[in-house]
Amino acid sequence: MKLFLIYFLFASLSFAKPGEIFDVVFDLDWTLVNKTTESMAARDKTGVIRIGLQPYRISAGAIQQLVRLHRDPRFRVSFYSGGNSNRNNELIAVIYQEIQKYDATFKTHLILNQEDLVEIEGVPASAPFSERFKKNLLKVNSNLNRVFLIDDIANYTLPGQEENVLWLGRTYEDTASFADAIARARKADEKTRPYYPTTEQEWRNDKLKIVSAVDIIFEAVNSRHPIATMNYLSAQKPPLKRSVQTSRQCSQLFQ
Ligand SMILES: [Mg+2]
Repeated sequence: MKLFLIYFLFASLSFAKPGEIFDVVFDLDWTLVNKTTESMAARDKTGVIRIGLQPYRISAGAIQQLVRLHRDPRFRVSFYSGGNSNRNNELIAVIYQEIQKYDATFKTHLILNQEDLVEIEGVPASAPFSERFKKNLLKVNSNLNRVFLIDDIANYTLPGQEENVLWLGRTYEDTASFADAIARARKADEKTRPYYPTTEQEWRNDKLKIVSAVDIIFEAVNSRHPIATMNYLSAQKPPLKRSVQTSRQCSQLFQ
């Protein structure tokens, strides 16, 4: 019995050996930030940043989750976006002004941009961008057992790297409330209507996506097989289908 308890104690501890690092890679658009409009930015200033004239909103809770990762020596934080390097660097610099208020030593590991995507041969130019170009996570870590990509596009990585993606499920346009989303969906055309949630739970889960994703990564790295565990957990409770969150939990994110 005693032996079993000792085994259980060790089994529940982190399996990461000292010095072994996990890379957490964030996509930018529709993941860490959403483009928004001047009227939305004026209506709710929470998390609004500007790159040139374009307002963006940082996803709810994202700053706190990035700080949480930086505080844990097991993690390095990187960014990988199909956007151009000037825009990406500017965006990340503004986000890190917030993060470095917690600790000035918190720094990104890598920032990968459009030029770091791999063009897939034979895909027609008319195909969607994420089918023509792919993210190569080997640029972040040669050991794929130690790299997670948080992305709103499920198939944005090279073949063989699908298991490394923590897909956020459907993500939506920046709206102030579910009622606002419904009102704007009514005015939207057929092409843009899918970018609005159809239920309040979908709206709420979209706001919780970064918190949910980072929770899954923390749980996964404490297991013997972090990548498999991440996939298992996200299939059991994908961020957008996770258990019902109370409106109180949700409103805390906006404080
Ligand atoms: Mg994206």
